[in-house]
Amino acid sequence: MSLAPVLTHIDNDLPKATARLMELLRIPSISTDPAYKANCDTAADWLVADLLSIGFKAAKHPTPGHPMVIAHSGGEGLHVMFYGHYDVQPVDPLNLWDHDPFDPQLQDTPKGRVIRARGSSDDKGQLMTFIEACRAWKAVHGNLPANISLFFEGEEESGSPSLVPFMQENAQELTADIALICDTGLYDENTPAIITQLRGLLGEEITITGPNKDLHSGMYGGLAINPIRVLTRIIAALHDDTGRVTVPGFYDDVPELSDDLAAAWDALGFDEKAFLAEVGLSEPAGEKSRRPLEMIWSQPTCEVNGIWGGYTGDGFKTVLPAKAHAKISFRLVGQQDPHKIRDSFRKLVQDMLPPDCTVSFSGHGASPASQMTTTHPAFDQARTALSDEWPNPAAFVGSGGSIPIAGHFKEILNMDTMLIGFAKDDDAIHSPNEKYDLSSFHKGIRSWARILDAISK
Ligand SMILES: [Zn+2]
Repeated sequence: MSLAPVLTHIDNDLPKATARLMELLRIPSISTDPAYKANCDTAADWLVADLLSIGFKAAKHPTPGHPMVIAHSGGEGLHVMFYGHYDVQPVDPLNLWDHDPFDPQLQDTPKGRVIRARGSSDDKGQLMTFIEACRAWKAVHGNLPANISLFFEGEEESGSPSLVPFMQENAQELTADIALICDTGLYDENTPAIITQLRGLLGEEITITGPNKDLHSGMYGGLAINPIRVLTRIIAALHDDTGRVTVPGFYDDVPELSDDLAAAWDALGFDEKAFLAEVGLSEPAGEKSRRPLEMIWSQPTCEVNGIWGGYTGDGFKTVLPAKAHAKISFRLVGQQDPHKIRDSFRKLVQDMLPPDCTVSFSGHGASPASQMTTTHPAFDQARTALSDEWPNPAAFVGSGGSIPIAGHFKEILNMDTMLIGFAKDDDAIHSPNEKYDLSSFHKGIRSWARILDAISK
């Protein structure tokens, strides 16, 4: 089956593909707000109907929350499982939108034509790039070049409460040779990316208690211990002068960057000065010996996200507080074990407590990093296929953030995932006036058509 007529079909069919996306965008499938429950159901039904119309066996599966959609093409060849989500973020503040977020508009901007609506980029526009590529293969050849399954979730924007149990209960139906996720972005507007590593996340809230009530700093100050002093001394001790985290054993399971990846990342020509300048900064704050991209993609972090205690209102109150609090999070890489790191962190805090102070901890999430095994031939085939479509060659990159679904595919279903997306930094996802470039949509569809061709060889 040849690729060229499929690409031509995609080019000619773009107006109709855009109209189909707009239909899906008109359904206000806000997952977090119970008022939109029926709309989430409608979006799932819309996807089932669309997939049935191009020959998939598709069905909606109930969960305690919003339904899942699973579809299968059947057939020969590599079995791929494509994931996307049909739910969207709330739209407020509504007054900052230039039109109804669920009345999609095609708008011409200085950077080209865009589709503007909630979900246009995250994730309806992105998931439709894959469906449209399948549609084009079907239209031209009557068949798909691979054995394709699709899996759509309706709770991604509200914490995916049903996802893990659903994956466990339906493990057999959801397992394939490799997973694809389209919910990420291009490296830059000319450079597509395949994310092959994602950092994990561990959160800890700590409360240090000293005296049994708030005290007057004139009557007690100097004699009584101040928990804020204790807390800040502990926080200050979490990094050394070079920026390294001091939690014992923290770096035990952190791998060095491979020479291959180091060369590939260097070739991206990341401009840290420009990146930092956009947020009013000028100097990388990580370990001096590290590449800036390593600091955000392949090195772990410890960050204080919040700190409070005592009197913080207007004016002044000479209080010596009973308690001091902080929220601290760790981004994890490699084989770092979140539970081991948590224990080690808690012990460090305990060991630094002076007499008369106690500490309580509450944990928030503990997910390890995801590192894809890129030896599956599909990774290189997809990279070549993307490079054929875009001006610059595709890159294997890291992501500083955490995308839990990729970890679940690995842990629950033992599948490696290729995260390939066509969003741009200025798409305003989760914000007013979200948009998806029509060129991203078009080239995204062509990219998937090429990838399906490449991985079927
Ligand atoms: Zn998303």
